[in-house]
Amino acid sequence: MTRHAHQMQRHTVVLRELDVLRVERLTPHMQRVVLGGNALRGFLSASPDDHVKLFFPNSAGQLVLPTAGNGRLEFPEGLEPSPMRDYTPRHYDDEFNELTVDFVLHGDGPAANWAAQAQPGQRIGAGGPRGSFIVADDFDHYVMIGDETALPAVGRWLDELPYGAQATALVEIPGSADRQSLSSRAQVELTWLERDSLDPAASRLLEQALERLPAPRGDAFWWIAAESSRARRMRQYLTDELGVPKEWVRATGYWKAPGSVEEE
Ligand SMILES: Cc1cc2nc3c(=O)[nH]c(=O)nc-3n(C[C@H](O)[C@H](O)[C@H](O)COP(=O)(O)OP(=O)(O)OC[C@H]3O[C@@H](n4cnc5c(N)ncnc54)[C@H](O)[C@@H]3O)c2cc1C
Repeated sequence: MTRHAHQMQRHTVVLRELDVLRVERLTPHMQRVVLGGNALRGFLSASPDDHVKLFFPNSAGQLVLPTAGNGRLEFPEGLEPSPMRDYTPRHYDDEFNELTVDFVLHGDGPAANWAAQAQPGQRIGAGGPRGSFIVADDFDHYVMIGDETALPAVGRWLDELPYGAQATALVEIPGSADRQSLSSRAQVELTWLERDSLDPAASRLLEQALERLPAPRGDAFWWIAAESSRARRMRQYLTDELGVPKEWVRATGYWKAPGSVEEE
């Protein structure tokens, strides 16, 4: 049998209007929003690496959602479309039909601004996930590296890893108050890297920690999510300098700093 074979699952794209059920400020820079409503029934998210497209009210306060036609999202003509951004399904509880999404409060942006004021009774749109990248479960070690936007996915990875798995997580956060209590059945080495006053795009705390990391024993899968050019550089370091096979690394730009030209 092929070793370390990942799978890509495709899902039919479903667009939904969801209700905000609860809001909880987890840490100074992380707002948890729990979404629900009948439209959420049947929601499917197979991997911590999944994302949904969330749609926020436009400048007139209206939700103007697209339809998923011909594999593309098509907005109604003549109306200002709802701004959309990608977010990780942190947890879906199919018994209570609740979807948890954790929003970084990074400053000014339609998603972060909406999350900062979110209240029960409000509505947003959600599309997808369109697909799930299922990482092979036969690696000896899993390494997750990311900034605070990756924290929902890292938290979910750790929740879902089985007993006996080995994992290392490097997570860069704005400050010590942004640490979260994460649980796992796996054997996990978690390192918090606190940026304090450093700019999140200019910080190199993750890169330095990655260079200092002792080589994991056996075959390791590396998952990286951070500002786009930082994610790209860390992937290059692994594949070009350490010679890690490309298929053992998944690096994604989760946001783009102004002036950054690289896309993941
Ligand atoms: C697959 C995927 C999953 C993601 N999951 C999550 C998640 O679960 N939780 C989460 O919070 N984010 C997540 N993100 C990141 C999120 O989509 C971006 O941070 C997004 O840009 C936020 O939108 P906004 O409207 O707040 O800001 P935008 O309008 O997109 O940006 C406004 C300004 O803010 C800057 N900016 C954007 N994000 C950040 C940041 N994090 N730190 C500093 N400056 C920033 C931009 O450079 C820009 O100058 C994910 C991204 C991807 C691709």
